[in-house]
Amino acid sequence: MGMENETGRIRMDSSSDTDEDDVGLAQRYKTIVELTVDGFWYIDEYGNILDVNTRYCSMTGYSYNEVISSPIWDIEADMNRSQVIYQIDRTKKLGKALFETHHFKKDGSLIDLEVSATYIDYGTPGLLCFLRDITDRKELEQKLQESERSKTVLLSNLHGMAYRCDYDRDWTMRFVSEGCYELTGYQTEDLLGNRLISFNDIIEPGYRDKIWNKWAEVLSRKETFQAEYRILTASGEVKWVWEQGKGIFDDKGNVIALEGFITDVTRQKTIEEELRESERLFRTTLYSIGDAVITTDIHGNLKQMNLIAEELTGWGEKEASGKQLEDILVIINENTREPVDIPIREVLRVGEVVGLANHILLISRNGMEIPVADSASPIINEDDEVIGVVLVFRDQTEERAAREAIAESEARFRLLVESAPEAIFVQTDWRFAYLNPKTLKLLGAASPAQLLGKNVIDHFDTRSQDTVKELIHGLKGDKQDVHLVEETFIRLDGSSFVAEVAVVPINYGGADSVLVFFRDITERKEAEEAIIKAKMASDIANRSKSEFLANTSHELRTPLSSIIGFSDLLIEGTMGELNEKQKRYVTTINKSGNLLLNLINNILDLSQIEFGEMDLECVKFDIVDAINDVHSMISILSSRKNISIDMDIDLPQRMVVADNEKIKEILYNLLDNALKFTPDGGRITIRAIQKDTGFIQLSVSDTGIGIPKDDINKIFEPFYQSDGSTTRRYSGTGLGLTIIKKFVKMHGGNIWVKSEPGKGSAFFFTIPVLTDCTER
Ligand code: ADP
Repeated sequence: MGMENETGRIRMDSSSDTDEDDVGLAQRYKTIVELTVDGFWYIDEYGNILDVNTRYCSMTGYSYNEVISSPIWDIEADMNRSQVIYQIDRTKKLGKALFETHHFKKDGSLIDLEVSATYIDYGTPGLLCFLRDITDRKELEQKLQESERSKTVLLSNLHGMAYRCDYDRDWTMRFVSEGCYELTGYQTEDLLGNRLISFNDIIEPGYRDKIWNKWAEVLSRKETFQAEYRILTASGEVKWVWEQGKGIFDDKGNVIALEGFITDVTRQKTIEEELRESERLFRTTLYSIGDAVITTDIHGNLKQMNLIAEELTGWGEKEASGKQLEDILVIINENTREPVDIPIREVLRVGEVVGLANHILLISRNGMEIPVADSASPIINEDDEVIGVVLVFRDQTEERAAREAIAESEARFRLLVESAPEAIFVQTDWRFAYLNPKTLKLLGAASPAQLLGKNVIDHFDTRSQDTVKELIHGLKGDKQDVHLVEETFIRLDGSSFVAEVAVVPINYGGADSVLVFFRDITERKEAEEAIIKAKMASDIANRSKSEFLANTSHELRTPLSSIIGFSDLLIEGTMGELNEKQKRYVTTINKSGNLLLNLINNILDLSQIEFGEMDLECVKFDIVDAINDVHSMISILSSRKNISIDMDIDLPQRMVVADNEKIKEILYNLLDNALKFTPDGGRITIRAIQKDTGFIQLSVSDTGIGIPKDDINKIFEPFYQSDGSTTRRYSGTGLGLTIIKKFVKMHGGNIWVKSEPGKGSAFFFTIPVLTDCTER
């Protein structure tokens, strides 16, 4: 600061020529200057610093000597030399000046100064300047401005409306921020002073009283008002808003205004509602799910568990909540009985679903052991971060029992099939999928490998292939029927055999398949063929026998007619009287001839029946008439033996359709036998009754000799006569019953006998009221 020193009178330290008064004055001046709290300079009209006080030095960091005699613009930051001179001149003219400026401090930083300058024209003319450090004040002002600006920025950027309103039922607005329009759809002017609408009218009616009451309560306690309510916007939209405000009070505690902020929370409300909804849904799902479910937080602490989880673990959700999952869910390996880790740590780390080990037992709180199967999945938030684990597990007791039962029944089934005497195989997609040992044997395979996977159809004779295909195609859908066919199989060596095949649709290893049973019936076939051959041979033999008999009978009847006819003439005596002896012999010839004729007729009938040449000739007739006819035919014979024939007829319906002649023949035969085997003076009864079944039952009972028990079943056989001795006594052929039984059968009826030796016999037969004659 080497500057020219124009010494001022008040420079006491350097002036040696001052008088006593001056010294006193200077002293006083110095004291004042040093005592003032402000900084101080004394500069001459040219801007040179003549004096500074200690305060200024401490404000700026300079020492006295560093400053003295320097021109002021060396330390002045805002003004250059000419500006300083201008300012000095200005002050000289006005006498005083107050201005703000900046000075450089010694460290180069700036200091804000408020300068109060006074011009003096005595001594060395110049400016006496008092300086105030206004850095703090400036900063404060700066901050204030800043805060005002940011408040405006804030208010205009906030999604919501700041307000100041009167404490009245209208909530008369005195100030509303720009957000008003966005929030309510009304312009700020519309709301101010209730010009178009009052804020109260915007509030949904249901909330108006509540808000009024709440404000009253809050104001009485000078607390902050907070509420959520709904408003109706200008467009009629309903919005959820959140308000926070407070009362402004005067000195006496009266409310002079309310100030606060209202913001749209519709979105949050909707989200909250959705969240609540989804939580409700989640809880409902969680608690109604059939499996046990436990959720944990990120640390593996239990958060929720459903009823089933409670049952299985023996823990209640409340007491378990917050506990480490491992303390609640204790699981061990079923075989080793070692504890098994619940893989929640792994899930939390990997963030993927992890299944638990197999064969695990859950040890419930009361020590029960429950087989379980389960899995653990991560719970992931919107940002794909794992925030917990959900563990799902299931009591497997029943499932396992079922599985074991299935395994057992499968084993049983397999054993059965393996040891079955029948050949059994399964075919899937026309290929052998399973073969039992018997199948291997029949098809000539040493091991299943020779046939498994091979085409099934190839093992059928070409003539059988289509039938088998059709049979198997036809299976689709009807699982009930078992189809039986006889087909020719081809063995591995190319030879063939006939088998009876049954196919049943099954599901084998998840695939639609066919279970095939078959049996080699070669032997049976051979046996059947042998039987058929034998039958044919016997049929032929029978046929020729009958043919022979028929022919023979015919040939016999002609000469027999002569024998009977001529012997009749001789007995009648037309050819001249015979003596007793001659008469006896001719009578014998006649009797024997008749017997022979009878026999031949019977044989002829029988052979005709056997031959199938005898048909029913059905007519509609009155059965009682037929009975009467036979009765009168036989009556001469019966009266000769003094045997009475009674009739007991109880028929509501007398008309029948049948072969009239044959029915009469049946009856005649039975009556003839009854007469034959009943001693003189005996009694015969003919009965006819109606059966419910559409049959008429006729019977001929006698009081004759009866039939021994052993013979009862044989008398209907051809040529059977009960007793050799009676045969001679009672002439007959032993064919009568055989023939009439055939007649009864031809009608579809039945014949049987009840008899007691010595007491009598009763023969019964039935015929239909309406015989179906077309069938025979
Ligand atoms: P036959 O021509 O010998 O009578 P049948 O076939 O009519 O031949 O009868 C066979 C046998 O049944 C008779 O020989 C007789 O022994 C016995 N028989 C049939 N009817 C009677 C009856 N009413 N009483 C006792 N025995 C009878």
